[in-house]
Amino acid sequence: MSAYQCCINPDCGKTFGVDEVLHCCPACGELLDVQYDWNAVKPLKSLNVFESYWSERSNPHRFSGVWRFHQLLPFLPLEKCVTIGEGQTVLQNAQRVAPYAGIKPDRFFLQYEGLNPSGSFKDNGMCAAFSHGAFVGASRAACASTGNTSASLAIYSACTNLMQSVIFIGSGKIAYGKLSQALDYGAKTIQIDGDFDDAMSRVQQVSKELGIYLVNSVNPFRLEGQKAIMFRVLEALRWQVPDWIAVPGGNLGNSSSFGKAFIELHQLGLIKKVPCLAVINAAGADTLYRLYEKEGLRWNGGRYDKNLTKKFYETMNSEGRKASTIASAIEINRPVNLSKCLRALDFCNGVVREVSEQEILDAKAQVGASGLGCEPASAASVAGVKKLAAEGIIAKDESVVCILTGHQLKDPNATVAYHGTDKDFYEEILGKRGVKTRVFANHPVSVANDLEQIVSMLR
Ligand SMILES: *Cc1c(COP(=O)(O)O)cnc(C)c1O
Ligand SMILES: [Zn+2]
Repeated sequence: MSAYQCCINPDCGKTFGVDEVLHCCPACGELLDVQYDWNAVKPLKSLNVFESYWSERSNPHRFSGVWRFHQLLPFLPLEKCVTIGEGQTVLQNAQRVAPYAGIKPDRFFLQYEGLNPSGSFKDNGMCAAFSHGAFVGASRAACASTGNTSASLAIYSACTNLMQSVIFIGSGKIAYGKLSQALDYGAKTIQIDGDFDDAMSRVQQVSKELGIYLVNSVNPFRLEGQKAIMFRVLEALRWQVPDWIAVPGGNLGNSSSFGKAFIELHQLGLIKKVPCLAVINAAGADTLYRLYEKEGLRWNGGRYDKNLTKKFYETMNSEGRKASTIASAIEINRPVNLSKCLRALDFCNGVVREVSEQEILDAKAQVGASGLGCEPASAASVAGVKKLAAEGIIAKDESVVCILTGHQLKDPNATVAYHGTDKDFYEEILGKRGVKTRVFANHPVSVANDLEQIVSMLR
């Protein structure tokens, strides 16, 4: 077959078949990529061909917002690709949010990935990883999750019955919207006494020991599916490449995957221009920001400074620093895709910023008021663009696409604490995290159960 797995370390470069199940390169420990012999795949003349597939929507693989682009991620034959209707998402020209972000209204866009079956972008990657797991004959799949990966795995498992799902979560750090999905969809749910980073290292050990298929974003097939988010953004812009893509950074799977999408589209001659990539950390989980912007860590052709990262993590351990942010989906201090993200930042002329809890919550309220609500992590992208525009790094008239990674209903606590009038709840959820003001709050009004009083209030 024309697809294979390949170590991203240029001094190693070992290759493996797509039928092998590996979490990293067995020779050197680096991450693996899925690569293709593009000459053996039927060459694409232009991206326009994908529009001709719209008329074939009764075919589930054409309906899928991921497999519709199978020619750009052909690691399995199409008939082996699992779909539950993922990727029916929209690019909204968010005129009402644009002034807040500091961008010209007709140039500012939100890519709303909350519309996926499980309510987050994770389905784009899960359909790909799940297909691969089923293809290699696994009967169980597992992940560690801050919530959305588990919801996504659970829904694929429930809908297809091809693999059972096992999820590992940290204690007390999962938004109820997400936990409720995993439980409802019947996933075997294991709560570890620790945080996400602890759950992540455990699930890797357990999967290895029991031969359970791992679908965390160290899984290179997942990142192939996530490329489709960029394909749909380009499609919605009629194949015009925007000036900027902004995305929240957690485990850095999305940013890595977007970078790979643009590297490949460019290499295939399907795009001329490459967008700039802005990856936005929460200030309470800012490993990438510190390493990239403060320490100057760079991809360096794949020979990035491993001593720098080693020292960074040693200091983090000795100081006992744990990730902490209301944006639970990006509450991650040891991003597993760091090296691939460096490659993406290198190719896409990237910048990294960190945003405060206050900035995240205010941006989230602005996104909500425009009609497409999102969860806190997603709003980091908008808060980050606002910051970059204020710094003059993004020009007002450049075109900007923010990825809204997850649905508003995933984390209702944050929303209700921001808008609500219950002081204790506000303090518990937001106040103690340093969110001091709520300038965009839409406070509910209390009134006696009395017709006259209600009417006079609304008059
Ligand atoms: C997983 C997730 C993220 C983080 O994405 P990475 O690819 O891990 O960087 C951000 N937002 C939401 C809603 C998520 O579910
Ligand atoms: Zn290697």
